Amino acid sequence: MGELTWSRAADDTVVADGLLAAFGESFGGEPDGVWAAPGRVNLIGEHTDYNQGFCLPLALAHRTYVAVRSRDDGGLRIGSRQAPDRTWEGTVTEVSQDSPGGWASYVAGVAAVLAEQVDPAGLGADVLVDGYVPLGAGLSSSAALSCSAALAWAELVPGLAGVDRAELAAACVRAENEYAGAATGGMDQSVSLRAVDEHALLIDCRDFSLTPVAWTLPGHQVLVIDTRAHHSLADGQYGKRRATCERAAATLGVGSLRDVGVDDLEVALAALGEGHGERSDEGSGASGERGVSGEPEEVRRVRHVVTENARVLDLVAALRERDAERVGELMLASHASLRDDYEVSCRELDLAVAAAVGAGALGARMTGGGFGGSAIALVEEAAVEEVARAVAAAFDDAGLERPHFLTAVPSAPAYRVR
Ligand code: ADP
Ligand code: MG
Repeated sequence: MGELTWSRAADDTVVADGLLAAFGESFGGEPDGVWAAPGRVNLIGEHTDYNQGFCLPLALAHRTYVAVRSRDDGGLRIGSRQAPDRTWEGTVTEVSQDSPGGWASYVAGVAAVLAEQVDPAGLGADVLVDGYVPLGAGLSSSAALSCSAALAWAELVPGLAGVDRAELAAACVRAENEYAGAATGGMDQSVSLRAVDEHALLIDCRDFSLTPVAWTLPGHQVLVIDTRAHHSLADGQYGKRRATCERAAATLGVGSLRDVGVDDLEVALAALGEGHGERSDEGSGASGERGVSGEPEEVRRVRHVVTENARVLDLVAALRERDAERVGELMLASHASLRDDYEVSCRELDLAVAAAVGAGALGARMTGGGFGGSAIALVEEAAVEEVARAVAAAFDDAGLERPHFLTAVPSAPAYRVR
């Protein structure tokens, strides 16, 4: 077996030095400073954020860095070391749904949202990006990008001094939704800007209140398996899942599925099963409208959301009790629910989970929106390499491109590097 590919976190000093030099080459002169914001993995609580439920992400040590020099003429120049030929030049006031489009809209969109609060001229900036969160792997490189830029503006523009991190996170959500055209529920931006070092972050997506949860399993690591699979299904399916959840909440007469507790689940599912089972706004899914269990779609979607919310709180309790086995069980139950009831897994994610558990992981699950992206496995520290090898071998045997790996170490939220 050849070498495994590990995506490593970067050293701040090395990245900042490199950015300084590259900034001079791109824009001339020096930036006012360098800021960083982390990507994230979600330990549990998937597809719950837009249902006002719970999730439990942690900030990675893998970060996106921005070197920024502010300008007073409202001009924008936005470049990335990951997109060397696609620097965008424009102005804050011309940013719209269609402009700049592409990757730069994650940065420009933040300026456009902040321009509702301060004079757009003062939001002018030269921005150079260098990212160490794998792109498009379900680890939220997009939020790392928008949040690093947002923090830079908040610290550079005097009129934004009073804007707190919760407001910045909300601005980044709007930048992604309205300017980058990406549906995102708010978990990613909250954890990137508001995580606590060495903790996971319990987020109540009803009001985005946060509870840091200490990472109490020092002998264990969270192995991230970046399957590098991206199924084009993903975009449309996210919107369809959201719509189904909203429709089910309306049928049940609740504001959101958050308001359905596990104790109310049977009654709620019975209500949904009567008369709503024949409708499907999701089109023909992989296993059809009635899924593997033969139950109506809304029933299965709601059961996932309601039980997933309960699993988040159970996992928090298990962490507090330092019960690694229970954490693993809950991860597996989450994966099964996402696979069978919510139908957002795929062959690569199922294989990663099965191979990791087969090689001794205490638990594993897909993380992020699904249809590709990453899985996570809870693994005893000494077994990390062995489990990664077993996963890579399983992908080899299946004729699939090998995953990349990283370890998720609960890390700090966005900060100024220099
Ligand atoms: P994820 O957030 O899971 O990584 P997304 O599809 O939401 O996946 O975001 C990935 C997109 O974010 C990229 O396609 C690109 O447009 C943008 N992006 C993120 N990081 C960078 C970077 N360092 N340089 C340029 N674009 C980036
Ligand atoms: Mg994203």
